[in-house]
Amino acid sequence: MKKPLLVFKFGGASVKDASAISNVVAILERYNTQNILLVVSAMGKTTNNLEHAFEAFIEKDAEAFKTRVETIKKYHTSIVDNLFEHNAPLRQEIESIFNQVETYYNQDLSKSRAQLYDGFISFGELLSSKILQFKINADLKISKWLDARKHILTDALYQKANVNWPATIASICETCIPELEKYTILVTQGFIAANESGETTTLGREGSDYTAGIFAHALESDSVTIWKDVPGMLNADPKFFEDTIKLDRISFREAIELSYYGASVIHPKTLKPLQNKKIPLLVKSFTDPGAPGTIIDVDTSNDHMVPSFIFKKNQVLFSITPKDFSFLIEANLSDIFSKLSIAKVEINIMQNSALSFSFLIDHDTNKIESILDVLSSHYEVKYNTNLELVTVRHYDKKTNEFVCKDKKILLQQSTRKTARFVLSEA
Ligand code: ASP
Ligand code: MG
Repeated sequence: MKKPLLVFKFGGASVKDASAISNVVAILERYNTQNILLVVSAMGKTTNNLEHAFEAFIEKDAEAFKTRVETIKKYHTSIVDNLFEHNAPLRQEIESIFNQVETYYNQDLSKSRAQLYDGFISFGELLSSKILQFKINADLKISKWLDARKHILTDALYQKANVNWPATIASICETCIPELEKYTILVTQGFIAANESGETTTLGREGSDYTAGIFAHALESDSVTIWKDVPGMLNADPKFFEDTIKLDRISFREAIELSYYGASVIHPKTLKPLQNKKIPLLVKSFTDPGAPGTIIDVDTSNDHMVPSFIFKKNQVLFSITPKDFSFLIEANLSDIFSKLSIAKVEINIMQNSALSFSFLIDHDTNKIESILDVLSSHYEVKYNTNLELVTVRHYDKKTNEFVCKDKKILLQQSTRKTARFVLSEA
């Protein structure tokens, strides 16, 4: 019989140092009777650090670039030193990647900034996947490294590339199915991909979950597990909330709703490819791998059990009224929407009355300017900053009173399952 195939995704925190990497290998040992396709993110804060170095490259600040790259290099080399006494082949690989990082500085700036960004930022995942794969092979001897850029094929929308599904599925199946007969574990990179001309693209920040979803969909894996530093999907972000509760089991639908409202546990695009093939998604703790975590699948029966809270801070509420005091009829609304779409505004919540239309966005100074630009000629535009959007799924009177306590409510909306409040400090 064919072995079960599991797709695992390990994020930056799970591979942030040598002992974290050894812990990943210990987790893999628990699953030694199964095939695993492993997707890994860049180590620790590497993506942010590469972004920082990239800024220096764009600004042509050679000194800053050198120092920042040096810090990233030291971090990776010290992890390699802690994992291995020798291992010349891995050291050579790492050296050669850092050569490319360093010489990237000489790339000509005629390519778009986004394209240059993707080419540079991808080094983080290349490094982490190499180091992890060498460690797996040293300890378990059964893995192979794959370049995700050969299989996740996208358009050329750099930094937020769209997957070409037919080509991607074909490429993944053609390569991975035979490799999985030969190797128990395949190790690849999250987040990075390539377009038709072979140029590196990325799927958007935090996109490694999505990569796991894509591989799972193509290979019709038995499940996907996202290994995290929390016990599972919680009903609120522990940063804002003291008494969080783990959701034991929720449906794809519920998880999609939660991530739409801003719950940040799973990259929003990850769920659809899994839902389409009914592949269960597990969110588990890498510090407590025996614990059950959260199961996300087709079963909706537990969705209503625990109310979930999603907080979005730093919101701006716009309120606009036609200058001629005309009612907000369809013609006005379609004018407003087309202008907002030109300004590429993403609306978090909206509401209208006879004379005014209100909408909420994440604070972004440039966006505020563009909105004023496109709307001020025909509309009276006012806005309030420093607000908070709270969404409560499966609310009741108690939960709503709790989130609004000592706050002023500027706007509220509720449907059968969801209550939302735009709040300011009272
Ligand atoms: N390393 C990338 C990031 O930090 C992708 C990911 O971690 O999912 O955004
Ligand atoms: Mg990350």
